[in-house]
Amino acid sequence: MARFQTVGKGPEADPKEKLEKHRRAGRILREVREEARGLIQPGRSLLEVADFVEGRIREKGAQPAFPCNISRNTEAAHYTPAPGDTLLFGNDIVKLDMGVHVDGYIADAAITVDHSDHPELVQAAEKALQAAIGVIHAGVSTAEVGAAIQGTIEEFGVKPVANLTGHGLGHYTQHDEPAIPNRRVTAGTLLKAGDTIAIEPFATNGAGRVKDGPVTEIYMLTDPRPVRLPSARSLQADIQRYKGLPFARRWLKGERIEMGLRQLEVAGALYRYPVLVEAGGGLVAQFEHSVIVTENGCEVFT
Ligand code: MN
Ligand code: MN
Repeated sequence: MARFQTVGKGPEADPKEKLEKHRRAGRILREVREEARGLIQPGRSLLEVADFVEGRIREKGAQPAFPCNISRNTEAAHYTPAPGDTLLFGNDIVKLDMGVHVDGYIADAAITVDHSDHPELVQAAEKALQAAIGVIHAGVSTAEVGAAIQGTIEEFGVKPVANLTGHGLGHYTQHDEPAIPNRRVTAGTLLKAGDTIAIEPFATNGAGRVKDGPVTEIYMLTDPRPVRLPSARSLQADIQRYKGLPFARRWLKGERIEMGLRQLEVAGALYRYPVLVEAGGGLVAQFEHSVIVTENGCEVFT
């Protein structure tokens, strides 16, 4: 994913204030997650859940850090309802992945709600997250975190998704350094006290990797460019408000949105997040928490 940022984000807060803002985002995320969990039921609509989650975040005085992701079954990540989406939940394994930010300081967390009867996948991902949290402290290598995740997931007879990772949480930057691998790697990065990171193991009964699917509903402005087409120009002015964080096509108002998005993409201003699907057609479970690394462990703030 794109790690470069040139969109204006404003000055950063001092370290203590930063952590307070991350924690405030985390408290709001926790409350909304618990309210939303029960809405994921066969027969109910995906759009209703996404609107609820994003609306509640705003009501509580924060902003979504990215569109509410609701990915089902072989989709691992990055589906969010389309404008006017009519999809309904069935007996699905559902990943609800939510982001909240307070002045650009992000909380990112996900749960799996399973109506498909695959407890081994759910447990593998959930226990792997616990195992990862258990090994984190200042000075630990991300390689050790990845090994704990892979080892735990394999105990359930399933596989980690090797090409998805956790990540640092930067100011208005959802996917910052360092990457937190979900598998054994030869070289890692040492975590430091005060680092804010998201850990997100994915477990699958498929090939163990994801590929881009055909649908894109989430975009991010990475590099504003001079564009001539009026629809692209007004769209680019409008999406500056997200300060380089991901946004949903569903959030956009106005004329000729499709054409504007296409023009901005061609101009190199926009990054797209296609829905990621399991390459072997496997089902996928995911759990995610955001943490602050401390000398002796970590503080989970979601
Ligand atoms: Mn997430
Ligand atoms: Mn994440």
